[in-house]
Amino acid sequence: MTRRGVGHVWAVGVFLLAIGGCAIPTKPMKEVKRPREGRALGGRVAVVYCKHYPVNLVGFEKLHPFDINKYAHIYNRLVQDGVITPGDVFVPVPVGDAEILRVHTPEFLASLRDSKTVARYLEAPALGIAPAGLIDLGMLSAFRYVTGGTVLAGRLALEHGIAINLGGGYHHAKPDAGEGFCVYADMPIAIRCLQAEGKIRRALVVDLDVHQGNGTAVCLAGDETTFTFSMHQGSIYPIPKATSDLDVELESGTGDARYLEVLGEHLPTVLDRARPDIVFLQAGCDTLRGDPLASLAMTESGIVRRDATVIDACVRRGTPVVMTLGGGYSSRAWYVQYRSVRHTIDAYGRAVSTAGE
Ligand SMILES: [Zn+2]
Repeated sequence: MTRRGVGHVWAVGVFLLAIGGCAIPTKPMKEVKRPREGRALGGRVAVVYCKHYPVNLVGFEKLHPFDINKYAHIYNRLVQDGVITPGDVFVPVPVGDAEILRVHTPEFLASLRDSKTVARYLEAPALGIAPAGLIDLGMLSAFRYVTGGTVLAGRLALEHGIAINLGGGYHHAKPDAGEGFCVYADMPIAIRCLQAEGKIRRALVVDLDVHQGNGTAVCLAGDETTFTFSMHQGSIYPIPKATSDLDVELESGTGDARYLEVLGEHLPTVLDRARPDIVFLQAGCDTLRGDPLASLAMTESGIVRRDATVIDACVRRGTPVVMTLGGGYSSRAWYVQYRSVRHTIDAYGRAVSTAGE
């Protein structure tokens, strides 16, 4: 995920905040102190979400040209359509400094106290005039909950088989800096936490967002216990690219058939090479035709099939899998991912499994 060229809109928001004299989130919500147990659907699919995921900056987030609160739309629609109930959902606690420092540097943590630096990570220079406390409370706090959600999803996937975090996939965040609207490297943090807890040894990241997972690649570089696989459009941000364990570049205009063919060529080999105890799927849907930040040409159904291809492969191999939602901010993005999450729940979360796959 990445945002480019949106600073002017953010500037308007910050200006309105400044003249409004109300630079605090409207309704600070009670902090979650302990993770709340949900119910794994069909005993196999755990859904992770929290009311603290949406960014909450006095409405200024609504001025963002992209739908930065798409995760709330997905959750609400899943509940509205009876796919899940609020009681099914596992609620995470936010990551703390100790977990963040498993991947990021102390200097990075300190840098988050500087508004201009955070504004740079978020590619919104105008945000630099906002008080650091406001940014932390209204924005970074949400990202810490989502990152905690990816950690929790990792634990739940090991327990139940499949876990879906209705957020996350901050794949541009590096150990010493954020970029591309990503601050905390949620997937590497989750991997390091699970390794430290002795729950896994090896992990694979399958990154299908249209942008390369450059941050993930840097965070996990040179580590034999992890494997990073990124399929992305070659001609767009980030430029230059980082080096994943396997990078596959796609050309502008790539549609469903070619995309799924290329994924099918590489996925079995990647799973064989990585020998993972867990897979983290970054299922960014900015591969959708018409996405404002890229120019692949997948259909909604193609993206649902793409995600199912990875999840089905993991299930067949008995490998726990975590789905994070990543980028994609066209007006249809939330709906595509709603369909993909619903498809996974329909496929695996409807009844207690009576036999192994
Ligand atoms: Zn992206």
